[in-house]
Amino acid sequence: MNLWLTEFQTDNLGLTARITETLFSGRSEFQDVAVVDSLEFGRMLVLDGVFQTSIFDEFVYHEMIAHVPLATHPNPKTVLVIGGGDGGTIREVVKHQSVELAEMVEIDGMVVDVCKQFLPEISAALIQKHPKLSLKIGDGIQHMKEAENKYDVIIVDCSDPIGPGEGLFTHAFYQDVHKALKEDGLFVQQTDSPLYHHPLIKRLTKDIRSLFPITRTYLAHIPIYPGGMHCFTIGSKQYDPLKVDAVTRSDFADNRYFNQEIFKSCFALPNFVKEFLK
Ligand code: SAM
Repeated sequence: MNLWLTEFQTDNLGLTARITETLFSGRSEFQDVAVVDSLEFGRMLVLDGVFQTSIFDEFVYHEMIAHVPLATHPNPKTVLVIGGGDGGTIREVVKHQSVELAEMVEIDGMVVDVCKQFLPEISAALIQKHPKLSLKIGDGIQHMKEAENKYDVIIVDCSDPIGPGEGLFTHAFYQDVHKALKEDGLFVQQTDSPLYHHPLIKRLTKDIRSLFPITRTYLAHIPIYPGGMHCFTIGSKQYDPLKVDAVTRSDFADNRYFNQEIFKSCFALPNFVKEFLK
């Protein structure tokens, strides 16, 4: 079959995948939602034409956005995921024995329903209605305004800073995140590609640094995202991932990407990243 789908990652660059089937295509209140099957990446969630996750590489993103902050906090009990409608992040969060409540606030119910139907491997915890899980369909920005001193860890698993995700990359949002965290809480956000989005990363790092005493950036290799090099940013009130000696908990046993060595090495940054983060 000769059907190709291109995500235009910049004005001058696209990533194109050969598609075998469009399993779902619709328009929600917030965005275009599609699930396609591709020969190289397997099934993929596509929102507003942007590749969000794929069966081929989802483990990298979901393990790295969940386990790095959860390994940094010594005893995370109450965890919030903002966005993450495909369910991959919450699937990783509930694996942690210390976690008692894993809340998820996703703005788009259609993303959740479609992923449960067509990406069940990723949505496993949502499908099983995992006992630790509490799912709310709503705006994460509004949810943050209302929460206070509640969470040990907040994970912002958002789409790009356009459309409903735009307000998730602002100083005002980070202030609300700070308020919603307990006094030793920390948060992480997916913060796009250091190769292609450094003005954004520079700005948000400055905002997070103005609020949190500890700010760290870490990297992972994710082929469907621009440049294949993706970064995540942590803001922490007390715990510094660079000072965690060893990940001794056993919650990570069946991981495909995250391990003890990755936890250390993911914070090693190339000079060009260090330079724009200065
Ligand atoms: N891994 C992905 C990436 O980096 O491209 C992100 C995956 S996840 C599908 C992103 C989710 O964030 C989407 O389902 C989107 O609906 C949700 N989202 C965007 N803005 C939101 C908001 N203000 N509140 C809650 N969820 C939001």
